[in-house]
Amino acid sequence: MISVCESQKSAANGSTTNGENMHMKKVLDVENNLDAQTKDLITLARSWGSQHLEPLIPSYWDKAEFPPNILSSFRDHCPSLLGYTLPKQYGGQGYGLMAASHISRALASIDASFTTTLLVQYGLCAESILLCGNEDQKRRLIPSLARLENMGCFCLTEPRSGSDASDLTTTATKVDGGYSITGSKRWIGNALTAEVFVVWAKNTSVEGHPVMGFVVQRSHQKNKGAIQTRKIEGKVSMRILQNADVDFYEAWCPDTNVMGGHVGFAQSVGRVLEASRISVAWIPVGICQGALEKTIQYITKRQAFGAVISSNQIIQEKLVRMTAHVCSMYLLAERMTQDFIAGKCSLPAISMVKAYTTKLGREVVALCREIVGGNGIVLDFGIASKWADIEATYTYEGTYEICSLVAGRALTGVSAIKSASAIKNSIKRRQQSKL
Ligand SMILES: Cc1cc2nc3c(=O)[nH]c(=O)nc-3n(C[C@H](O)[C@H](O)[C@H](O)COP(=O)(O)OP(=O)(O)OC[C@H]3O[C@@H](n4cnc5c(N)ncnc54)[C@H](O)[C@@H]3O)c2cc1C
Repeated sequence: MISVCESQKSAANGSTTNGENMHMKKVLDVENNLDAQTKDLITLARSWGSQHLEPLIPSYWDKAEFPPNILSSFRDHCPSLLGYTLPKQYGGQGYGLMAASHISRALASIDASFTTTLLVQYGLCAESILLCGNEDQKRRLIPSLARLENMGCFCLTEPRSGSDASDLTTTATKVDGGYSITGSKRWIGNALTAEVFVVWAKNTSVEGHPVMGFVVQRSHQKNKGAIQTRKIEGKVSMRILQNADVDFYEAWCPDTNVMGGHVGFAQSVGRVLEASRISVAWIPVGICQGALEKTIQYITKRQAFGAVISSNQIIQEKLVRMTAHVCSMYLLAERMTQDFIAGKCSLPAISMVKAYTTKLGREVVALCREIVGGNGIVLDFGIASKWADIEATYTYEGTYEICSLVAGRALTGVSAIKSASAIKNSIKRRQQSKL
């Protein structure tokens, strides 16, 4: 187990242990207002990540595999980070949203795939049960997810509907003692190894077929073909994160696993997405901090035309531009999180910040790649995977466009999410159904 004290010592020695803010803070120390506990947790996350995770990234990214022992290493070395987003009474650490966001940022400065794996586990799967489940479900299901004893996933996106997430075709049909779930899901993180599947489906036994959450467990299935998962191959972003296509064929969900208290898209999955979008907005901040540090370390050693390239004026201007971008991403994410905790910020602000950090983050990481030259596209130099990984953040948990339109609707009072032709088509459909 790595103690907080040991990891602080190595940071003080000037090693890269707490490196994601090392150079940036010479200009603006955005972290200086954090409390001691949060700083310790960041140091621990970063220290474990740089010792145990970072050395594995080039080969596992290349193979598109999740390192098989990395979760047990995290469990053994960082017990105080298990369930870091979850409340204490359900096996989490009870740190609160701000500290949890900084832990995610610190882990993302090492690797965004690993961080996303944890966010799917904690921020989507367990969070769904936390926000929409009853007390029995929370006590029964969340602690083993927090301890990483069971893996969990969040099944919303379908092959024909991503951004329009409420347009689901997966159905839950009432049968004796439970529900039968049938349908296909796409992009599902952690599904290959999951025991707990939080499935969003239309309940056909209730008028209007509202969307509800159903916790389907692999170990409950008598028919082993009821849940079928296939890895999505050929991804060029977040290759370490394992995503799958999932088919449910009359999968069994007992009545005790139906999250029945919250019915309808906005009241159920909408609340989960609002909370998890906050964590996701922090991921590009971490990716960029990690990439920026690596870039600065590189250019202070790399020579061209008889001098280190860090002495080049154009390079310095780019560094300052990137640093300003990262500081603004950090400060906006921090303010959004503070306001959310205080109950003063909702979906439009969260969506705006997620759109902003992913868009600016893309620019920063592309500049890092550019500055590191040819080595910027080689995995061993630590920039290439970040450059590719940030692409997924731009798309998942609400694409840049959808997040912008959510904020745009709040600014103008007019929704532009449905195009004029979509509105025309739905009027036509309604008229035809009346005939
Ligand atoms: C790495 C990764 C991990 C993921 N993990 C999960 C997971 O664990 N669980 C899960 O349920 N889902 C997951 N997703 C799915 C993710 O949430 C969707 O990819 C996302 O919602 C976008 O859907 P789509 O890819 O189908 O794009 P589409 O909806 O097909 O959109 C295509 C393009 O059209 C644009 N667009 C769509 N509608 C509009 C509009 N009205 N106005 C303007 N532009 C528009 C979009 O912004 C986008 O640029 C993951 C995705 C990725 C890439």
